Amino acid sequence: MRFDLNTGTFVDTGLRPDQDAVIGADRTLTWQALAEEAAAWCAQAREAGFAADVPVIVRGHKEAAFFVAIAGALMLGAPFVPLDTIYPDERMDRIARTLGSHAYYDARTATFERLPFASHPQPLQEKGLAYVLFTSGTTCEPKGVQIGRESVHTLVDWMAYDFALGASPVFLNQAPFSFDLSMYEVMATLALGGTVVLASREAITQGDAFLKMLAAHSVTTWVSTPSFAQQQLLQPDFSGQGLPTLDTFLFCGEVLPVTLARHLRQRFPKARIINTYGPTEATVATTWIVVDDAMLAGADKLPIGYPKRGSEVFVQDGELCIAGPHVMRGYLNREDLNATRMFSHNGTRGFRTGDLGAVDELGRLFCHGRIDDQVKVGGYRIELLEIDAALGKLPGVQSAAAVPLRRPDGSVARIVGFVQPASGDAHSPFLPQDWKASLGEALPPYMIPSELIPRQTLPVSVNFKIDRAKLAQDYRDMQLNPSRPTEGKHNG
Ligand code: AMP
Repeated sequence: MRFDLNTGTFVDTGLRPDQDAVIGADRTLTWQALAEEAAAWCAQAREAGFAADVPVIVRGHKEAAFFVAIAGALMLGAPFVPLDTIYPDERMDRIARTLGSHAYYDARTATFERLPFASHPQPLQEKGLAYVLFTSGTTCEPKGVQIGRESVHTLVDWMAYDFALGASPVFLNQAPFSFDLSMYEVMATLALGGTVVLASREAITQGDAFLKMLAAHSVTTWVSTPSFAQQQLLQPDFSGQGLPTLDTFLFCGEVLPVTLARHLRQRFPKARIINTYGPTEATVATTWIVVDDAMLAGADKLPIGYPKRGSEVFVQDGELCIAGPHVMRGYLNREDLNATRMFSHNGTRGFRTGDLGAVDELGRLFCHGRIDDQVKVGGYRIELLEIDAALGKLPGVQSAAAVPLRRPDGSVARIVGFVQPASGDAHSPFLPQDWKASLGEALPPYMIPSELIPRQTLPVSVNFKIDRAKLAQDYRDMQLNPSRPTEGKHNG
């Protein structure tokens, strides 16, 4: 069986309905069970007031019911809004308020829960959306990226035609469903009739046992950020012998380091490595390239490849721009951003990525980092301004700057916060002891700075923006010369 995204129904393909579809962290569903539970979910959702074009927040982690809800929402035509439990309640409330949600689905309890933000279901203005994914915003308000069903079709068509994943691929799903990278394996499993293994946060910390679990399920397709694969290199069993059925690494979300690709080629000589690139705003990924030994020889940086079929990517004023039917329908209720970031190109939607780009003589695209203050930590997308805003709300803080500390290869190792006290005296203690817990009420753990450093004033650059590069340099100097008087430090 598989799920037909065009008709929103499960169809019989001759593949056995008793084949596993979803190996959840809690239970396993065959294709037959998935089809039945998705139909039952639709009935439950209708009773709770959901219908076509009424967005439904799905909250949970790696429960089989999360996947059921996604399939059910696609059947119903209700755009799903995935929200991992890594996000605090306050973030869900903001999202629910933006959507005007009257209820949400909790995959942990498999029930619909009422919300105080609307008395009745509210359809979105945009019709025919598949999902709305919220990413870090420059204020404390996350931005809702609206992805149409037509965009998801282009994603699965591309995967089916170009990725050669086999008749019935078995995917590793490890990224939270609220990270669009996970839509690779969610949509491909549904459309191609494969199997998906949902690996929980707990499971992925179990080293060898985690890899043995993947081997037991005969995983064929590894989907993750490069950071996650990098962590696995510590396990000797992360190899062709340990995972004998694994034939493809599908990467996206951040730079694929040359060193990681070389290690993977050594450990998995028979597996293909596919580097893909793209923002959430263009449905998971837009460019791709198979990384082979010839490319790795002598390379110091890997290309992000060529545009996927049906899309255009070009560099305009140094910025990577994307056009095609996979570009979002716009940020929800953010006409200000839509006006500056979106454009029309040859009759299709276009998006200015904010990434610096270049093309080499072979026509291969490269991504050279960001124009703005967006960073990636372990693959998670973060607007530093969102952390600034949350820090600025701590009692006693007048203003603040989140500063990424980078490794020699440019990737962000961690974030520290510089805070300017409202009292003007950076020497006397002014931060509450539990500042990490206070921040945790608004921010997910990966956005919380590892330490806070009080500063009398925050330096600004020539364009009057906070000079984060100078602060990073000051931090490095402080580390090299700890005897130098600092203004105090809070590790929370
Ligand atoms: P997200 O919306 O979370 O998928 O993040 C998208 C951003 O991640 C892009 O705009 C790039 O800055 C970065 N990114 C994604 N894939 C790659 C890649 N293969 N190489 C370099 N940067 C990437």
